[in-house]
Amino acid sequence: MITVRHHILSLILLAACLSVSSAQAEQVVVTDLRSYQAPDNLRLVFDVSGPVEHRLFTLENPKRIVIDIDNARLKQVLPPLSSEATMVNNIRSSPYKKTGLRVVLDLKQAVRPKTFVLGPAGQYGHRLVVDLYDDAQTEPVIVSKSHEPERQEWVIAIDAGHGGEDPGAIGRRYRTKEKDVVLAIARELERLIKAQPDMRPLMVRRSDYYVGLKQRPLIARKAGADIFISIHADAVPGRRASGSSVYALTERGASDRMAKYLEASENAADSLGGVYADSAEYSDPTLKKVLFDLSETASIGFSLDLGADILKELGRIGPVHRKSVGQAGFAVLKSPIGDVPSVLVETAFISNPTEEKKLRSKTYQRAMAKGILNGIKRFFDRKELKPRVRSMQAKQGATATEKPRHHIVRRGESLTSIARKYNIAVDTLRFANNIHGNNLLAGSKLLIP
Ligand SMILES: [Zn+2]
Repeated sequence: MITVRHHILSLILLAACLSVSSAQAEQVVVTDLRSYQAPDNLRLVFDVSGPVEHRLFTLENPKRIVIDIDNARLKQVLPPLSSEATMVNNIRSSPYKKTGLRVVLDLKQAVRPKTFVLGPAGQYGHRLVVDLYDDAQTEPVIVSKSHEPERQEWVIAIDAGHGGEDPGAIGRRYRTKEKDVVLAIARELERLIKAQPDMRPLMVRRSDYYVGLKQRPLIARKAGADIFISIHADAVPGRRASGSSVYALTERGASDRMAKYLEASENAADSLGGVYADSAEYSDPTLKKVLFDLSETASIGFSLDLGADILKELGRIGPVHRKSVGQAGFAVLKSPIGDVPSVLVETAFISNPTEEKKLRSKTYQRAMAKGILNGIKRFFDRKELKPRVRSMQAKQGATATEKPRHHIVRRGESLTSIARKYNIAVDTLRFANNIHGNNLLAGSKLLIP
């Protein structure tokens, strides 16, 4: 009798345990979906209530992508994809194996998928990110310096901050997103620069998608940019801060509290926008060191000059928050080769309701763009810059006619001897060829930047 009772008690305990474990394995709820079309990929971001296990595979005839999420369900019907989405016809979903969720993307063309998960960051909880790359889309050909020998063009990289999953700061009064107003200012600046006889714009981000902080200067570099301008309109605590400010890079610690605050909020962008944690340029400590050393030595002086010129011109349009150029360790300003003057322009504070209102107006967006352009012109007019300008132009004239150079490594040659031969820095050679140590294989082909 006692044993039977004991048995029943065990069963009750067992049942209790089971209900606890089933509560632990509670279904993940897919609460929302956002999508962003970039020039070469479509990003889908699923908001999920907790960490997810998922598998992705492709099917042919017709082409589909299937994403199976274990132990998950939808909270509501998935919203339609971005109207700009070019590679996907349709998205649908169904239950899968009793407790799972299957999402199917009907494709218009072959794509190369890549997925990763993001933990909670900023306003977001857990996210599942699916990127579909359009392999048919070749990288935009942007390295095309003018072929007319008389006409020299300065390439101005315009970097609209944030974008896509990273909205940037959000205004209190109208819920204005920083990513939208800075893109509007960037487009105005693009238009103005196009109208200059000696300048050409390069938009680092062209619409509403995210570009990683370290990717941005690389895009500029690949396009042969001479100047890099990152445009922002951040928020700080309180409503009072107002006026434009300009920042350059330093690795020695931020110049003041405001710079420190902005540095932290800007450098958090990747955790919101979403980047692959495993990409080489993010994790390689050697490369990090090279990037830092080069940017430190070569371009900071020029960046401070450029910043001062832009600040002076912005001060003619409206109030400035600080009269000198601030400095902080902004990841986006770390130019990969180090000779590109790079600044971050805080056009206004979106946290200030009056400035938020201004930032939304076309007139103000145009005025800011005009101010930045005038600052760039002022920088190019600097007397002490002339010799550098000339050498840059000589360099540009040369690249207009020359194909990229290569060097076949011969036995006995070192990085140093090759760098000396082409009159370039060893680190430049390393960077261009993704070399981390000092070892060179005889017979290998090096790109000479
Ligand atoms: Zn910003």
